[in-house]
Amino acid sequence: MNTEILSTHTPAMFREAVVRAVHWLRSGAVVALPTETVYGLAANALDPAAVARIYQIKGRPAHNPLIVHVASHAMLEELLPQLPPWVEKLSRAFWPGPLTMVLPQSGKIPGIVTAGGHTVAVRWPSHPFMQAVILECGFPLAAPSANLSNQISPTNADHVCAHLKGLIPLIVDGGQSQVGIESTVLDLTVSPPAILRPGMIHAGSLASVLGQVPQMEKAHNAILKSPGQLTRHYSPKAKVHLWSWTRESSLQQKLLTSGLDSSTTQILAHTCIPLEAGLAGVSVIPHDAEAFARALYSEWHQCDARGVRNIVVETPPDTPEWAGIMDRLRRAAA
Ligand code: AMP
Ligand code: MG
Repeated sequence: MNTEILSTHTPAMFREAVVRAVHWLRSGAVVALPTETVYGLAANALDPAAVARIYQIKGRPAHNPLIVHVASHAMLEELLPQLPPWVEKLSRAFWPGPLTMVLPQSGKIPGIVTAGGHTVAVRWPSHPFMQAVILECGFPLAAPSANLSNQISPTNADHVCAHLKGLIPLIVDGGQSQVGIESTVLDLTVSPPAILRPGMIHAGSLASVLGQVPQMEKAHNAILKSPGQLTRHYSPKAKVHLWSWTRESSLQQKLLTSGLDSSTTQILAHTCIPLEAGLAGVSVIPHDAEAFARALYSEWHQCDARGVRNIVVETPPDTPEWAGIMDRLRRAAA
């Protein structure tokens, strides 16, 4: 299949790309679109045949449900007329943005989207391109990350091309994803609400709106409720190691005793930065959770492209702002 790749960096190009995306989505096709979290592989969420193509292209197991993307309150209320009380407050605080709410299914969303479950995950993305496409389509979009199943999520159009060129008719380049890791998934069908997947909207921010601290879903429950949350997930081909060091000499010592081959080991550091000598390379990511999240998957993609065997990540602080990043790092290192 010929894959058209369209840029969006002038108003005319943006407009043309919206028209092309809407054309393909209306015809039941699957296309890759930018969002602020990671790039999405989108289809009409109300068309079971189109959604089936997402699963087929990704090689995604049928028991792993998809997030439904909306771009207005009217669209949300049409899909789910009975909303739990928290939705209004949370949406006012965090939408559009990287928060996914798990809500009771209404029967309007096909079972293939929810993997046959009684709940549906919904998000209102902030990326202007995604919003324009959803509004012009007039229907919500089911969109998991635009990668093959079990690979790292794409945060720019090149990452998408590497996986999906030739498999879909259109990839839209909307620049680097500004959040860089997947959305926070919050289950509102339980009390208190439960975080199924941590993200950049962290427990503290949610608590300030909910008036109570959300639960952290225990891993074994989360696997049943949210099958995307398998222990080893979001991982590059290289082996990820989470290490702490306060001096370069202690890192060097750790490298020696670990038996890792330094020449194929990349270091991702944010605070104590080693010299590059003898290593595959050193990536410096700012000691700032938002900047770190934005850069992380790109670093992993680059490591895989260069054939790096081991990635040693300097452990970030154990604070709420870093919880989403720590979750991805732990899963990758599992
Ligand atoms: P992805 O779009 O690849 O980041 O995956 C979407 C993730 O959202 C899934 O792996 C689940 O963790 C979560 N999710 C989607 N729908 C539901 C749902 N109905 N209940 C719980 N979690 C869900
Ligand atoms: Mg994914």
